[in-house]
Amino acid sequence: MNSKTILKVKCMDCGADMGEKDGKGVTGISHGICEKCWNERYPEYPYLLGEPLMTEIKLLKLAKYRDRKQQELERALSLTARIRVAQGRAGGLPK
Ligand SMILES: [Zn+2]
Repeated sequence: MNSKTILKVKCMDCGADMGEKDGKGVTGISHGICEKCWNERYPEYPYLLGEPLMTEIKLLKLAKYRDRKQQELERALSLTARIRVAQGRAGGLPK
């Protein structure tokens, strides 16, 4: 028995209804991005519909997130290193 499954597509930014697509066995909500939000977010890229684009967005977001995490980590590490050096100079660290 094959019941029809439908995915409702909504814009992940503004929540605008972007229609429906075949859920291929899954029913629920799929997130896309509408042209307006795309143009606001990524004015340097042309707006195209489709899965490859969403993959691209996810990768972009992930890359940005990773960059930020990396910077935070580096800052935290350098701060720790500086504190250690300062403590060492003050002779406060037991050997
Ligand atoms: Zn939108």
